[in-house]
Amino acid sequence: MPDVAVVGSGPNGLAAAVTMARAGLAVHVYEAAASVGGGLRTTELIEPGHFHDVCSAVHPMALASPFFREFELAGRIRLEVPELSHGAPLDGGRAALGYRSLERTVAALGRDGEAYRRLMSPLVDRLEGVADLTLNQLLRIPRQPVAAAVFGLRTLEQGTRWWGARFRDELAPALLSGVAAHAVAPLPTLPAAGAGLLLGALGHAGGWPIPVGGSAAIARAMVADIEAHGGVVQTGVRIGSLAELPPVRATLLDVAPPGLLRIAAHRLPPGYTRALESFRFGNAACKVDFILSGPVPWAAAELADAGTVHVGGTRAETAEAEHLVAAGRHPERPYVLVSQPSRFDPGRAPAGRHILWSYCHVPAGSTVDMGEAVTAQLERFAPGFRELVVGCRVTTAAQLAEYNENYVGGDFSAGAMDLRGMFRRPVLSPVPWRTPIPGLYLCSSSTPPGPGVTGMPGLHAARHALKDMFGMPVPGLGRQEAS
Ligand SMILES: Cc1cc2nc3c(=O)[nH]c(=O)nc-3n(C[C@H](O)[C@H](O)[C@H](O)COP(=O)(O)OP(=O)(O)OC[C@H]3O[C@@H](n4cnc5c(N)ncnc54)[C@H](O)[C@@H]3O)c2cc1C
Repeated sequence: MPDVAVVGSGPNGLAAAVTMARAGLAVHVYEAAASVGGGLRTTELIEPGHFHDVCSAVHPMALASPFFREFELAGRIRLEVPELSHGAPLDGGRAALGYRSLERTVAALGRDGEAYRRLMSPLVDRLEGVADLTLNQLLRIPRQPVAAAVFGLRTLEQGTRWWGARFRDELAPALLSGVAAHAVAPLPTLPAAGAGLLLGALGHAGGWPIPVGGSAAIARAMVADIEAHGGVVQTGVRIGSLAELPPVRATLLDVAPPGLLRIAAHRLPPGYTRALESFRFGNAACKVDFILSGPVPWAAAELADAGTVHVGGTRAETAEAEHLVAAGRHPERPYVLVSQPSRFDPGRAPAGRHILWSYCHVPAGSTVDMGEAVTAQLERFAPGFRELVVGCRVTTAAQLAEYNENYVGGDFSAGAMDLRGMFRRPVLSPVPWRTPIPGLYLCSSSTPPGPGVTGMPGLHAARHALKDMFGMPVPGLGRQEAS
């Protein structure tokens, strides 16, 4: 009989299961889909021999998140870390380039280089404190107040109409908007600026790793650790109610609030139920995967070495695209996140072929196929792209929602990342992972610190479950730790 049930095997469910199993508890993970991983799956989506990431592809948190650092992920799987973390093409063959080296980035940004250095350098120098602030519950006194102040002031600048005050050219603003727009929010806003500054600083520190073998390699390493510590991971089992679980002492749910409402139906107090019912989801993604007969022919040749390319044009164009999505419309020229993992991990495609991962933002619930709009944006900055396409598969936002019930309406953040969604995730509480039912915890990205493959919601939920239900601290998670 297990001590602990974990429902859902996304990175957060697996992080919770690793932590509980390492504490010596008998853990059973139940996953609805036929394979483990949630947002960490890699499959032959279009043709055999071409391995596409279904959801996440690039992992800025793989080296930075306290969970993955403790877990020593970098020692368990191979991570390729491109020297050029990210870039953003502009018309005329120019591109903004975000290298791991801040010096190189400053040099490539021309006359705005020094202004960019003054913005980013204090964040890179205090990255530990910035990560501590942003990867924990925001509702607490910061452990590193100077880092928090430095981050807060810069977020205020880049998240408001003063965001262009320090720049004179287009390159640095385009570089910053490329990372800020990850937040699926209008620009400029504080949550988008915060997300962008954190991602940008990570790009200049450890970089943005791409796992060899695809994102599924991360899930495999986590499952292997759970099994090595006596845990069981079962796929093809969708949990509809707590009554379907064995009588465990702690249950951790890697589900979104509607999932929690279904699973714990009628057992949650009315106030908490109402709070979950009013939880807001954000806009969504339309995913476009390609097989190419060669590498993307970027007009700005340096982009061939970028792990991620933010294809949206100038800051004004990216902001316009994100405003249209926020207004419920589909931009003709969308902001597109692009990665070509086969450039760094040749095993992902047969010789001479490449895979390309991309997605753009669309309104929640969209059924619109953005394949042509994404192709046109790529052709704009990489003339000749269209002729290289030998295969393409589009997954609309509505199909993403069917693929994973946590992505309500195609919202892959499992909850809007606006100001309210950052603090009320899913409820306003110093311990939002704990539900009113003793022993029942929420560990998905609908809890702090929110979306991205960080493992942190899982670790936070597990920390509280261990303390509340077993009187135990978080155990060591590293490879050499005794079990
Ligand atoms: C297109 C796309 C691109 C992305 N790109 C990136 C990226 O490059 N980098 C990055 O860091 N992040 C990226 N993300 C976001 C990242 O994938 C998510 O933030 C992350 O996977 C959330 O992890 P999670 O464990 O909370 O939930 P999920 O990964 O969503 O996993 C939840 C799991 O729980 C299962 N489940 C739900 N309900 C039940 C139930 N009742 N019974 C049993 N099982 C259940 C689901 O089937 C699923 O497997 C991307 C997401 C998408 C969709």
